[in-house]
Parts: sequence; structure tokens; C-alpha cells
Amino acid sequence: MPNFQVDMHVHSHYSDGADSPRDVVRKAKEAGLKAVCLTDHDVFHGLPEFEAARAEFEIDGLTGIEVSTYGRGETLHMLGYGIDYQGSAAGLLTISLSNNWLALNNRIETALEQYRRAGIMDVTPEEFQRAVGAKGPAYFKLWLRNYRTRFGHVSMEQAKQETNRGGVADANYKKELLLKPIDAINLLHAVGALAVWAHSGKLLRKNPALYRTILLDMVEAGLDGLELSHQHNQGLEEEVADYARKAHLFTTGGADYHGRHKPNVNLGDHGISYSEFMKIKQLLPNQ
Ligand SMILES: [Zn+2]
Ligand SMILES: [Zn+2]
Repeated sequence: MPNFQVDMHVHSHYSDGADSPRDVVRKAKEAGLKAVCLTDHDVFHGLPEFEAARAEFEIDGLTGIEVSTYGRGETLHMLGYGIDYQGSAAGLLTISLSNNWLALNNRIETALEQYRRAGIMDVTPEEFQRAVGAKGPAYFKLWLRNYRTRFGHVSMEQAKQETNRGGVADANYKKELLLKPIDAINLLHAVGALAVWAHSGKLLRKNPALYRTILLDMVEAGLDGLELSHQHNQGLEEEVADYARKAHLFTTGGADYHGRHKPNVNLGDHGISYSEFMKIKQLLPNQ
């Protein structure tokens, strides 16, 4: 059995996960989870398939997203839950996220250019995306590593080193193109969703003073929750929970599942109880 009944942080092949949304839902059901949320990076394109699969496998959950943001010199992730992805909401999401796609794609295009110049491989972004079978409008580093292991026959470790700092495909990217945290919160609210700061312990560990400043910015903008149960928060759970209590934010949790791209992470490794999940769901106007 999984550690938790509900996993609220899961990626599919519409961003940098390896599984289809349907496979994610099927595996969540098989693992014995009571609810699951799909939170792909910066895309909502997997949500129709996710919702259809939830009906097919009869499992509770929420439509979600994990928006990349950049503010006060930090890249921060903002989770959204209960997002409306149809009709005018889809248009608003597309317009608002298009610069995020530019930033993400620029990073991978630069990396591919560096591989080409180093004489290692010569592949266009479109060929790369098609070869690995990734869906959606944005390119991701985990797929680039997947490409290198499958078609360049290097080890997972080497593929990782190539894209890490100092590696042959170490690609800096235009982080300023990403949405600001406050804009992400506003966008999520505009599409009917709750906004949750993902794995905030990462910044708390690095810079507690900046953490408090950024948390205050976000709370003023209407932040709804903090992700508590997550690998990056390990050892800081009590502190994060304390900040959540003081700011009247609810807490969430999730494994940050990526399928075989992160083989040591399983659905339900982190999460929340089903009763906690039901309380969060009741905060949503459209559920
Ligand atoms: Zn994240
Ligand atoms: Zn994630």
C-alpha cells in the first residue's frame, strides 16, 4: 500500500513525466490511492484524458497544473488545483503560459545546439520531441536525458551530467520570461483554481529571510496553500506547517511522480489523507 491515500503532485508525458495521463490514473487506482491530481509543468493538455480516465477507473481527484515562475531572483513552482481548462479558460491559459513555453523551449533548443557543436548529435527540436514520444507544446530536460539514453546509448548518469552545470548541454535559459509568482496566482484564480506554493522547503532551506519575503508577497496576492508532504521539504515539515498555520493556508502533498524518468519515486510516496483532500475540494467553487 502507498504511504498516503491521496497524491496531489503527478506528471504525465504532456510535460516531463513518462506515463500517459490514463496510465497515471490506472496506476494510482492499482496502487490503492483514493484520489490523484495531474499537475503537469506549464501545460493543461493532458487534463481531458486525465478526467476521462478518472471516470473510467472511478477514482477521485482534481485537475491541476504546476506553473514555473520567476521572482526575486528565484525560480519557484506554483501548483494549481481544480483548474477549468475548457472554453475561454483554455484561451486564457494558452496566452498566459506561452512565454513559459518559450523559456522552456529555448533551454532545450540551446542544449541541442550545444550537442550539435560538440559533434555529439544533430537533431532538431521537433525530431527530438517526436522520437521520445513527448506530447504538449513544451520541451523538457528529463526527455532530453531519455533521448540520450535511448538513442545515444549513454547511461542515465552520463545523460544527467551532460545537462547539469558545466556539462556539454548545460543550457541557461531566459528565466525572466517566466510568469511572476503573483501573476501565476492570479491566473490560477482566474481559471477557478486554488494556488499552492510547491515544495517551498527548497527555498526555506537555502534562504529563510527571502522565504518569508516571498511568502508574504504570495499571501498578499491570495495564495491558498503550501505543499507540505514532499521530498524537498524533508526535515522542514514542522516549519512549513507552522508558516501555513500562521498564514491560514491549507497544506497539500504529493510524490512528484515522473514515471520511469524518476524510477525511485512512486505514486503515493508523499501526499495527504482522503479526509484532508475532501476539505480542500470543498473550497473549490465549481466542485
Ligand atoms: Zn516542482
Ligand atoms: Zn513537479
